[in-house]
Amino acid sequence: MAEILVLVDHVDGAVRKPTLELLTLARRLGEPSAVFLGPGADSATEVLGRYGARKVYVVDAPEVDEYLVTPAVDTLTQLAERTGPAAILLPSGPDGKEIAARVALRLGSGLITDAVDVTAGPDGPVTEQSAFAATYQVTAHVTQGVPVITVKPNAAAPETAPAEPVVEKQDITFGPASHAVRVLSRTPRERGDRPELTEADIVVSGGRGVNGAENFALIERVADALGAAVGASRAAVDAGWYPHSHQVGQTGTQVSPQLYLAAGISGAIQHRAGMQTSKTIVAVNKDADAPIFELADHGVVGDLFAVLPQLVDEIERRRS
Ligand code: FAD
Repeated sequence: MAEILVLVDHVDGAVRKPTLELLTLARRLGEPSAVFLGPGADSATEVLGRYGARKVYVVDAPEVDEYLVTPAVDTLTQLAERTGPAAILLPSGPDGKEIAARVALRLGSGLITDAVDVTAGPDGPVTEQSAFAATYQVTAHVTQGVPVITVKPNAAAPETAPAEPVVEKQDITFGPASHAVRVLSRTPRERGDRPELTEADIVVSGGRGVNGAENFALIERVADALGAAVGASRAAVDAGWYPHSHQVGQTGTQVSPQLYLAAGISGAIQHRAGMQTSKTIVAVNKDADAPIFELADHGVVGDLFAVLPQLVDEIERRRS
């Protein structure tokens, strides 16, 4: 069966949810082999196996921890040349997309980014992408070389398929480009108990309609009632009401949760670019003509300060 390379996204060996989604999708295409860079592979192997990895390629050289992006490019390129995979899957974050583009270039392969679904087709993997503010669904497949595909978080629900992976340590020759950007320090962001924005099943976002930093407490209350991450429009971020790390959109983070709740957000094209692939979109806006309603599956025309407290009360009532 064809081998599918999956680049593992992890923090000190703790595997992040998008990798489990990639392994689930990779099983539709062939036998997943996880590519693990850095220290911590021992603790990760069990979870990678649980989600169907048949092999774990481990590269634990100083370069992969101390330098940005390019060591992963050397690793994936050389592993692809050694193993001849049928596809390479990566997570669709900024790093994943940069790595994917460089790997595709070096392999002379076709590249597809931001897939929201991947299935097996007669000529290799077939992807679905959402384009132009979700007005087009693009179906595509790579016609040259090893398909290199980045997949958005939440493209698939992670499914277990227990396997006992063979662990293979790999030696990689790192070229001069691998030493181009050195990491000086890493500082984890404070985000309390809330899920990470790109991984969250539910995102609750506030915009200019929230009308003040202190009012974001209401957005956080809704988020906590739903076990959600908090997002913000650029207008709210530029006003200094919420940190940029929570900005959703073209120049912020792209999210694709099961449920996206937009409160006091008009639905500008640049905001849509970051959330249009959410499975279900709910909007609360006091302007019935706000563009967000063109995209929303469910809309409430009303004042968010009246609607959201009722929503929290109802969630809590149903829980008790
Ligand atoms: P507004 O457009 O001002 O909308 C506020 C909405 O709140 C209105 O629809 C109003 O009816 C509603 N409202 C007001 N009070 C209430 C209330 N009490 N109850 C309910 N509803 C209420 N934007 C992003 O979000 N993310 C990006 O990454 C991004 N990148 C950009 C990149 C570029 C190059 C450019 C040019 C722009 C970018 N923008 C981005 C900005 C974008 O164009 C919009 O300006 C921005 O999204 C507007 O934010 P908003 O919807 O919160 O504010």
